[in-house]
Amino acid sequence: MNKTLFEKIIAREIPAAIVYEDDLVFAFRDIHPQAPVHALIVPKKPVPRISEATADDQKLLGHLLLKAAEVAKQLDLKNGYRLVINNGADGGETVPHLHVHILGGRPMAWPPG
Ligand code: AMP
Repeated sequence: MNKTLFEKIIAREIPAAIVYEDDLVFAFRDIHPQAPVHALIVPKKPVPRISEATADDQKLLGHLLLKAAEVAKQLDLKNGYRLVINNGADGGETVPHLHVHILGGRPMAWPPG
């Protein structure tokens, strides 16, 4: 299987501004930030998207969300932030490796575009 873009970033084959790493997850700055602070946190396991996660991924997904909150704290998003998971074509997913967007540094509008 070919590596996903995010697996290549995790393997340091493609450079990224890394903000957090542990055994299970990896976080880095988004290359096209949509807010003053925009990072992505991904599982090291290349789960393609949330709709393809299974019960075996339960612990990993819990860890991913808890670490997303820790990374938001580390990035000093004291005033709040938004976590986004895009799933599939209509969800706006462009990279087939599950990722949580961490967006902050400005008020977020609702509904999203
Ligand atoms: P999505 O549209 O939800 O699949 O999000 C994919 C995100 O990956 C987009 O926000 C892109 O800007 C971001 N992205 C694509 N390539 C890179 C890269 N090389 N380094 C960091 N972020 C990237």
